[in-house]
Amino acid sequence: MNDEKSLPPALSRGAHGLMLEDVALADIAARFGTPTYVYSRAALTAAFAAYRRALGERPALICCAVKANSNLGVLSIFAALGAGFDIVSGGELARVLAAGGHAGRVVFSGVGKSRAEMRQALAAGIRCFNVESAAELERLNEVAGESGIPAPIALRVNPDVDPKTHPYISTGLKNNKFGVAFTDAPALYQRAASLPHLRVRGIACHIGSQLLDPAPATEAARRILDLVDRLATAGIALDHIDLGGGLGIRYRNETPPTIAAYLAPLLELFAGRPEELCLEPGRSLTGNAGLLLTRIEYLKPGGEKNFAIVDAAMNDLARPALYDAWHDAVTVVARDLPPRRYDIVGPICESGDFLARARDLAVEEGDLLALLSAGAYGMSMSSNYNSRPRAAEVIVDGGTIHLARARETPESLYALEQPFPPT
Ligand SMILES: *Cc1c(COP(=O)(O)O)cnc(C)c1O
Repeated sequence: MNDEKSLPPALSRGAHGLMLEDVALADIAARFGTPTYVYSRAALTAAFAAYRRALGERPALICCAVKANSNLGVLSIFAALGAGFDIVSGGELARVLAAGGHAGRVVFSGVGKSRAEMRQALAAGIRCFNVESAAELERLNEVAGESGIPAPIALRVNPDVDPKTHPYISTGLKNNKFGVAFTDAPALYQRAASLPHLRVRGIACHIGSQLLDPAPATEAARRILDLVDRLATAGIALDHIDLGGGLGIRYRNETPPTIAAYLAPLLELFAGRPEELCLEPGRSLTGNAGLLLTRIEYLKPGGEKNFAIVDAAMNDLARPALYDAWHDAVTVVARDLPPRRYDIVGPICESGDFLARARDLAVEEGDLLALLSAGAYGMSMSSNYNSRPRAAEVIVDGGTIHLARARETPESLYALEQPFPPT
């Protein structure tokens, strides 16, 4: 069931059906085809502004998590607002620079940074490497020495706080692959301080994603600040504290805190502290600023279930198949029909290829559907499985439409391949 009363920001329903800002989604489908990701510049900007406003005068850097939405159009909107970026690969660094982002506002997270990625990030002059293991510390020192560029570092510390979220997106507990153990951190900081090509700058943590309660992040921050104070006593002074991302959004009936309410207890802990506060929001910036527009190819009634087979699939939006995630599915143009209950599925040859289950929809073949809250971990997790060209991406801005990524062509999918030569 969909509750139309609570459409995400910038979405409304009018005489031309569902609108994002001042653009009818039906017009986007007519012009660019389907499936197409559609983002609202106003909603992206409003989410970023909410972080800015909540942080007030405090020295702070908002580093958008590129993995949530890595489209150049989206990144360039944040770059123009003065954002920093949290990257997890050399590919993401290249995107940030191509979008006009400042290397000096980039933090580099991730457990598996290669030597080549370290060289690339050093040469670009990024703000900080968030180092996730003792071995990475040693490797980064070597690469920085060879490059002749000292490496600014933070250690990603695991505060061992349960974020009470999906296990696949929980990252701050002792038994996962991210970060270094809280108890190992002091010795690792001493080691880092003794390495000639590293510059110890900060500390980082990120406890998980889709957090709906500020308490775990606040508890993590409390532990991190306690560690920062102990490090200072031991002669290691840090100038920034990175609390990661993780604030959740409403997909269905969740009631996440507002950005301001989420940050309030953190800011209270930081009152009077000189360190710069870094945040790495992803989902809460882009999630509800985007949707996936798709068209119903076939209706397939059945004894047990009715299927609405659409032209988007799990390769376009993996979250339902991957996490059993919910995305609201709403009709673009309402019909005066009795609703029927459908599973919304794609054309891919997998039973897990569903986008939504048991939804009551008044639809006919050829109708458009919008899968809401798809602006984060949507396109960025997409694949070409079944040799499906990836969706187009557009950004609306008031009444104008910007094509942010053209739809892929089948030829582009095998452009790097070669048939085996005949023998
Ligand atoms: C994924 C990730 C983020 C963003 O998380 P959201 O839940 O999308 O806000 C931030 N920092 C790190 C290190 C991450 O891995």
